[in-house]
Amino acid sequence: MTENKKHKIVIVGGGAAGLELATSLGNKLGKKGLAEVMLLDATTTHIWKPLLHEVAAGTLDEAEQVDYIAQAYRNHFRFRIGKMDGLDRKRKEIYTSPTYNDDGEEIIPKRTFSYDTLVIAIGSESNTFAIKGVDKYCYFLDSTAQAFRFQKHMVESYIKSVVAIGKQKEKGLSIAIIGGGATGVELSAELHEVTDMLAMYGLEKSSNVKMTIIEASPQLLPALPPKLANATKNQLAKLGIDLKLGCRVIEITDKGVKTLDGEFIPADIKVWAAGIKAPDWIKRLDGLETSVINQLVVNQYLQTLDENIFAIGDCAACPWLGHEKGVPPRAQAAHQQASTLSKSLINRLNGQSLIKYVYHDYGSLVSLGKYSTIGNLMGNLMGTVTIGGFIARVVYLSLYKMHQVAIHGYYRTLLLTMSNLFRRTAHSKIKMH
Ligand SMILES: Cc1cc2nc3c(=O)[nH]c(=O)nc-3n(C[C@H](O)[C@H](O)[C@H](O)COP(=O)(O)OP(=O)(O)OC[C@H]3O[C@@H](n4cnc5c(N)ncnc54)[C@H](O)[C@@H]3O)c2cc1C
Repeated sequence: MTENKKHKIVIVGGGAAGLELATSLGNKLGKKGLAEVMLLDATTTHIWKPLLHEVAAGTLDEAEQVDYIAQAYRNHFRFRIGKMDGLDRKRKEIYTSPTYNDDGEEIIPKRTFSYDTLVIAIGSESNTFAIKGVDKYCYFLDSTAQAFRFQKHMVESYIKSVVAIGKQKEKGLSIAIIGGGATGVELSAELHEVTDMLAMYGLEKSSNVKMTIIEASPQLLPALPPKLANATKNQLAKLGIDLKLGCRVIEITDKGVKTLDGEFIPADIKVWAAGIKAPDWIKRLDGLETSVINQLVVNQYLQTLDENIFAIGDCAACPWLGHEKGVPPRAQAAHQQASTLSKSLINRLNGQSLIKYVYHDYGSLVSLGKYSTIGNLMGNLMGTVTIGGFIARVVYLSLYKMHQVAIHGYYRTLLLTMSNLFRRTAHSKIKMH
């Protein structure tokens, strides 16, 4: 077989799902020359998305970023930068829009890539539910760039509030987080911790930082059992974080948040973390079926209605056996799907059958930074167990370690973990620029 005739697997999106799949297939197929594996991503580096609230708060070590080009070189796949925006199923081609630098200059033109097997793993973005003012006035945590933008604005606003004089100083800094799910809750605790650290570094403590979480459901963390939600609520209340539950947002203005019951919550900084959807352009993907939140509808084999196109991660609407709702958009689902699809695609290349994907829910954990970690674990033998404190923290961190092991292997993960520990002792614990 000549080089050109190799089966070409194109993976679009190098996130929790796509990067694990590209790494696995690169090592199992690309390395032996059994197939050509290509990863396309709109950006050049990867950060595991559940860490974005730490990027936003400035507490994440920048060494956690993975360079796609280096990852591709080490793991025998090709990396291409570009934002997919179209598909021709008959020609088996995908299209990308031009890539621009920060000055708006075009650095890579529109491109076309052919495939034999296509895997779409482009993740999700915030669902603004077309609420007035959200796009204009809110910060989002959908990408690393957005998280860095928020972090910079947060530090600048904090400094401004500390050095302000008179009435401005009394007013302090107000932050409204819309969405009381895991993202909103984790971000609020992380930001609270950051204001403590800024004080430790010599910036006067801004006791005037007021944080409010606004959630439409009567329960904080609506996806978790009430017992856990209540424990989290009590912990946040202790930190002085204001909770507005059962409160529906109808408009965002530059001054704050308007709710359905007529309340106006003043806020200098507004963060939107209230639900997700797949990007709108997916709806126009050459006849592929999509769900109400634009996810690509896939069967139990993670296959769309086109036998050569698969979808995994947040952008896939995948059935969950025995449940009315589909598989939830979570990192553990992305990890499991990448691992099943890797085996499935190898089988397919060898003329064997695809493997059914069955979602295993191992529970949910919410990190409240240094204050606490709480959650529930699920297993066939033990049923559902509520955990907290140190054990919960270890299990929470192990989710990320599993992702690191999938993309770096055990040895490099150990080295990275140790080097990060050393770095943290020498460097500032938060990013202040
Ligand atoms: C702040 C935050 C905290 C979270 N915490 C948790 C948690 O504690 N536990 C949990 O289970 N889940 C958590 N999640 C959800 C979890 O991060 C996602 O379910 C998971 O990352 C989905 O993986 P994915 O590969 O589908 O998408 P992503 O990890 O988002 O990756 C998508 C990739 O596609 C690329 N891309 C997007 N569009 C294009 C395009 N047009 N062309 C090319 N590339 C494209 C992006 O650049 C990105 O690299 C959290 C999410 C957020 C935002």
